[in-house]
Amino acid sequence: MEIHDDSVPERCPHCNRILTPWERVLLSVDRALMCKGCWYRILLDAFKNPSSEGKPPLKTGEDQP
Ligand SMILES: [Zn+2]
Repeated sequence: MEIHDDSVPERCPHCNRILTPWERVLLSVDRALMCKGCWYRILLDAFKNPSSEGKPPLKTGEDQP
């Protein structure tokens, strides 16, 4: 089983250990994973790109005098 979700990190952001495919599956499902290398709690939400969701609040063209 492979993860093609770019939001799932390939490495632990704390110790830089490469996550196994299975760990990435668990992370994508649970949205959180405890790194076995440093016991850092990886939160998937921390990797979400806010610009990829919804529309940017910037809106132009309507407020000109
Ligand atoms: Zn780690």
